[in-house]
Amino acid sequence: MGITINSSESIMLRRGVTGLVRRLQTEHRACSATTITTTATTTKPAAGTVSSSPKLRVHQPECLKQPINVPSKLLMGPGPSNSPPRVHQAMLNPLLGHLHPEFIQIMDEVKEGLRYLFQTRSEVVCCVSGTGHAGMDTTMCNLLEPGDVILIAENGIWGERAADMATRHGAVVRTIKKPAGDVFSLGELEAALEQHKPAVLFLVQAESSTGALQPIEGVGLLCQKYNTLLAVDAVASLGGVPFFMDDWGVDVVYTGTQKVISAPPSMAPISFSHRAMARVNARQIPIHSFYSDMTWLANYWGCDGSPRKYQVEISGGLGPSAGQVWRVGLMGYNCTLDNVDRVLTIMKEALHQ
Ligand code: PMP
Repeated sequence: MGITINSSESIMLRRGVTGLVRRLQTEHRACSATTITTTATTTKPAAGTVSSSPKLRVHQPECLKQPINVPSKLLMGPGPSNSPPRVHQAMLNPLLGHLHPEFIQIMDEVKEGLRYLFQTRSEVVCCVSGTGHAGMDTTMCNLLEPGDVILIAENGIWGERAADMATRHGAVVRTIKKPAGDVFSLGELEAALEQHKPAVLFLVQAESSTGALQPIEGVGLLCQKYNTLLAVDAVASLGGVPFFMDDWGVDVVYTGTQKVISAPPSMAPISFSHRAMARVNARQIPIHSFYSDMTWLANYWGCDGSPRKYQVEISGGLGPSAGQVWRVGLMGYNCTLDNVDRVLTIMKEALHQ
């Protein structure tokens, strides 16, 4: 492990190092104790409340002191599915920081895999943290601004869910409906596009509430004719049936890792076409959710050709502390005397350089 410290940081370190030693060692003692202890703060109590030392009123749960017992189950519902042993094996790898070069390389490789899975050459391919719902929400909150018309082809629960989400994002929701189990023909979709002239058409490829498989081929061309973006939910289908994002003219597609892909739940792979990103970049109002903002996600995943903005924070301090403070994390499992000594040794070495 090596760090580079410039001269102003070095002066600051000289001044701060003794205090830091004391503080790190004290904090280590506090957090390595077997039970959590709290100390009275100097904050004044709010008017009308009685001042008292805070006490632990919620005790350590006994159940969490027992080893976890997870039975092996055959998962034959519409997700999650069982993961193969090599997926479990991969999860045993050590943790990396979110900007370690090795982690960035893994993200780049995941993007390549997703391009293959979606059959796209789109730059913007990444994963949203969360389940399939997170992919749906990310689609809605990026593509829709209040007052935009979205047309939802509804033939089961996932179309209904999409309508609910779009409404929450202030869109004007129009639906064409079919009985559960039926799918929509190109003619029916075109008639609805002509009638509603929506900004977005939303289809579910595999409506898992009934098992209906909606044909997607041909719909992209229709959407382009009506200047509409095509968004497809492929949560229950991707990997199981053919999907050709570019050839079919799909503008946004998302899926979930715990279905056909057979990984644990927690990620929603997603891709935005050039047209979809143009719409996101031309928005009048900011995307309501920071966490699902595709411009940020695309930047973090290295999809927008710009340097990753996170990088500023890591070596230079955060916000006003940039260039002034070296941020050292000695959290949780890493909070050991050995690690405190290690940090101090490295700092001392740097000061003597
Ligand atoms: N869309 C479809 C078609 C689904 O089948 C599901 C889940 N069954 C979802 C979205 C939501 O995905 P998740 O449960 O992973 O949030």
